[in-house]
Amino acid sequence: MFKKILIANRGEIALRIIRVCRELGIKSVAVYSEADRESLHVKFADEAVCIGPPPSRESYLNIPRIIAAAEITGAEAIHPGYGFLAENANFAEICTSSGLKFIGPSADSISAMGNKSLAKETMKKANVPVIPGSDGVVTKLQDAVDISREIGFPVIIKAVAGGGGKGMRIVRDEAELEKNFIMASTEAEAAFGDPGVYIEKYLEQPHHIEIQVFGDNYGNVVHMNERDCSVQRRHQKLIEESPSPFINAEVRKKMGEAAIKGAKSVNYQGAGTIEFLVDKEHNFYFMEMNTRIQVEHPVTEQVIGRDLIKLQIEIAAGKKLDHKVKNPVGHAIECRINAEDPSNNFRPSPGEITGFHLPGGYGVRIDTHCYAGYRIPPNYDSLIAKLIVYAPDRKSAIDKMAAALEEFTIEGIHTTIPFHKKVMKNELFRAGKYDTSFLDNIILTNKE
Ligand code: ADP
Repeated sequence: MFKKILIANRGEIALRIIRVCRELGIKSVAVYSEADRESLHVKFADEAVCIGPPPSRESYLNIPRIIAAAEITGAEAIHPGYGFLAENANFAEICTSSGLKFIGPSADSISAMGNKSLAKETMKKANVPVIPGSDGVVTKLQDAVDISREIGFPVIIKAVAGGGGKGMRIVRDEAELEKNFIMASTEAEAAFGDPGVYIEKYLEQPHHIEIQVFGDNYGNVVHMNERDCSVQRRHQKLIEESPSPFINAEVRKKMGEAAIKGAKSVNYQGAGTIEFLVDKEHNFYFMEMNTRIQVEHPVTEQVIGRDLIKLQIEIAAGKKLDHKVKNPVGHAIECRINAEDPSNNFRPSPGEITGFHLPGGYGVRIDTHCYAGYRIPPNYDSLIAKLIVYAPDRKSAIDKMAAALEEFTIEGIHTTIPFHKKVMKNELFRAGKYDTSFLDNIILTNKE
């Protein structure tokens, strides 16, 4: 087992990894930007190294400084968390060539899945159903027209390098295609440094259901069931749950098997997630693979009874996978508490937290790096806490979540807590009758 791990991240996930290191008797090294001096990951790590000024580019994305921090402190491995460098194949490669173990899949697996359009090709070859669309990047308008005619409108133009729900445009008819095609490519270049776009059929009101997978260094791959992430605002997840209220055991089995096939086709090692869109008839289509631990991993941990961060570290250290596929037990829900103002179009709300009271009790879990007096810097994403509940069934989990949200008090800034309270009361949500259009069409237009 490693003696010392450097965590190339910040916020709740950095703290979460530090806690596991302590449990395993591994020393932890935090890296931080000048904006994060007062952050808990800096306080609770065994050592901490400042790696630069607030902008991510100069700190959390600065590969030479992170590698230097690992070398100075004598760390043997690097855990990238999620976001920042977690899906950067170049970073994984540099870690390896610097003699540091990258806690994640190989640079080759990351590359194979990093380009979303290439990833679809790979999955197609592995016989995993994919959303109908273009074979690879589309560069000419005429090709975009031909493909769209063939698969039928509406279509969605997506950036090959996209992420975080950004870089997508829905096109409902041919007249809108030219303008959107040019704009999508220009936006992709500006946001991701890659103008490549691809086209796929736009599914109406699908469910976003993803499968957690894990691979070891000996060719074993398992799946750990699904998470339903259909509660989204503008394609960004806000609430996740496991199991999904939409699929049954038979569909779960089929999706799980497809996910394992997909992961095996790229010799996958470590934690990964295969994201599917599922239509009303329960047909599922591969959308993309995330080659890292995800924000919403705790809902899986609760229903399968395993610490996934611990497993990531053990697998990276060479342990054999000892997990067998098993059905979820009980029900878990996660609400993402963001520093955003839901009554003002979810505008970011950084600043000082003046009062902070956490809910608690049986089945309530909170992963957060915040405390009273903490100042949320404006430089990073707005996630400030994850509230996770676990109960024997879905109804009790929703009731527990509603009760916990009632008690959760954050003063000084705006948060998404009032919004989550509203969702927990919504009859459609309570009945499990929601898809990816639910938030934008029902809750946010006050049609409930
Ligand atoms: P990102 O990597 O930016 O999160 P994804 O490809 O995972 O992007 O898509 C995010 C969300 O966008 C999905 O969960 C879904 O709600 C919507 N979406 C993406 N592709 C399609 C599609 N072909 N049809 C309908 N909705 C889609």
